[in-house]
Amino acid sequence: MAANSTTVEVAERVTALDPEALRRDFPILDQQVHGKPLVYLDNAATTQKPRAVIDALVHYYEHDNANVHRGVHELSQRATNDYENARTTVQKFLGAAEPEEIIYTRGTTESINLVTASWGRANVRAGDEILISAMEHHSNIVPWQMLCEEKGATLKVVPINDDGEFLFDEYRKLLSNRTKIVAVNHVSNALGTINPVADIIKLAHEYGALALIDGAQAVAHLKVNVQKLDCDFYAFSSHKIFGPTGIGILYGKRALLEAMPPCEGGGDMIKSVTFEKTIYNDLPYKFEAGTPNIADAIGLGVAIQYVNDVGLDAIGAYEDDLLQYATERVGAIDGIRIIGTAKHKASVLSFTLGQIHPHDLGTVLDREGIAIRAGHHCAQPVMERFKVAATARASFAFYNTRDDVDRLVAALEKAREIFA
Ligand code: PLP
Repeated sequence: MAANSTTVEVAERVTALDPEALRRDFPILDQQVHGKPLVYLDNAATTQKPRAVIDALVHYYEHDNANVHRGVHELSQRATNDYENARTTVQKFLGAAEPEEIIYTRGTTESINLVTASWGRANVRAGDEILISAMEHHSNIVPWQMLCEEKGATLKVVPINDDGEFLFDEYRKLLSNRTKIVAVNHVSNALGTINPVADIIKLAHEYGALALIDGAQAVAHLKVNVQKLDCDFYAFSSHKIFGPTGIGILYGKRALLEAMPPCEGGGDMIKSVTFEKTIYNDLPYKFEAGTPNIADAIGLGVAIQYVNDVGLDAIGAYEDDLLQYATERVGAIDGIRIIGTAKHKASVLSFTLGQIHPHDLGTVLDREGIAIRAGHHCAQPVMERFKVAATARASFAFYNTRDDVDRLVAALEKAREIFA
């Protein structure tokens, strides 16, 4: 009975989302590529934008464009209100305690670099250790390497198993009182693995270490609550959650952000300036030097409202079903090797097909109107772990359908014949 009621519940949640209706909100999806209707399966690289986000950008530039925080005039006040309201939207979306804990950045990459440059430089010393996992994106590897090099600290890597799962026992062994911070992704962009971040954070804290979560691939698919997770930092990019490029978020706990020095100096991040001494501004402005990306912050707020309206529960259930369907159908193709077979996955299907180079696969699929990504996905250590030079990656959003998967499968079969 219990299983039945769960099945019914999931089915109801799946049907609660109408992908065909939602697709109509995304004008870009309605086009032909090489004479075929576009199938967009590159959502892990960037997502498409609903009409509401595009309209918000146009509206801002047509009606409200002005610099924020400094003007007494009407346009500046409107721009400031919308810019700050978007921050509150992000705060609520992440379940953060206050809007001051939400820092606008250019994206996940800049958010992580802000932490390494500010918190890292102030707190990491020679002999300290920093832990990441073997499935990180380069943007959650290289900034830590740069910090370790500068400080004489050591970067340690938690290994993953053949399914692409985080090895918790190995993590426990690597932790020590030398560990300063643990930085892992919530969802792997190369494998789709959903990491047990709540447990990872809890254990880091038991060792007195901080925890940073790279949420770039999580926020469009899973509900996140930074207070429940108890993470110290959480980073994501707007363009991966149906918002504009060039804007992203760093969430940090207030006490940490208060204690951190600013990274960049300039306008807006100060309270007062004399040639003798500058008093820095309060949070969040201390970390937002110069004229910010106002329009795109507003666009991000609208994108999040859009996602809230669709509902992350419905999105999660729908995408789980779609990923399962895609895994079964693509997995049944002769010669397919799926890279990333974790028990808990979100929206990413990475694979190789026989000896065909993923770039060649990508090109054949493109001629069929299907956009996928081929390459190392900015996760070269993952490719090395699975002994492949590259993979082809289909990544899904709620506007994808089983029909898109069927088109992908047919095109992969065609590629197999071409390269046979
Ligand atoms: N982290 C993960 C897991 C990602 O997938 C990406 C982008 O693909 C990034 C970080 C970097 O995001 P951005 O290029 O938007 O800064």
